[in-house]
Amino acid sequence: MTTGAGQKSKDTLAEIEVREALDALGLDHYREHRTIALPPWGNRSQRTTPDVLFEDEKIAVFVDGCYWHGCPVCFRDTRTNTAEWRAKRAQNRARDQRHSRALETLGWRILRVWEHQSAAAAAKAVQAMIDVDAGPGTYAVP
Ligand SMILES: [Zn+2]
Repeated sequence: MTTGAGQKSKDTLAEIEVREALDALGLDHYREHRTIALPPWGNRSQRTTPDVLFEDEKIAVFVDGCYWHGCPVCFRDTRTNTAEWRAKRAQNRARDQRHSRALETLGWRILRVWEHQSAAAAAKAVQAMIDVDAGPGTYAVP
C-alpha cells in the first residue's frame, strides 16, 4: 500500500529482511516506526519515522525503497528516468537528506539502507556502528 507523496508502506519486504538480519546478530533491542520530532524546516514542523531505531545508541535506520527514494544504482536506466519521475525522486531524496541532517543535529547516527542492498550487510553495518561510535552523521552500508 502506498499513501502517495513518497510515503512508503510499513513493513516492506526489505525492512522485514533487515530486521531478521538484526535479530540473527542478536541486535533485537530496537523499536519499529517510532516518529521523531525534528527541528522545524523554515516555518514548517517536520518529523521522521525511522524503520528501525536503537534508542540507547541513538541509531536510526532507514530502509529506503529504490524506486521512491531514487536509488542512484537502480535508476541509471534512462527508460525509467522520465522527467516527471526524476523530479519526484529528487524531491524525495532532498527530503531524506534534510531529515538525516536534522537527526544529526539532534545527535543521531543514521544508517540509510537501499532496498537492493544485502540485509546481512546492513545488519553488520549496524553492529559496527554499535561497536564504534564515530559520532553523529549519516552512514551508508559498505
Ligand atoms: Zn537500488
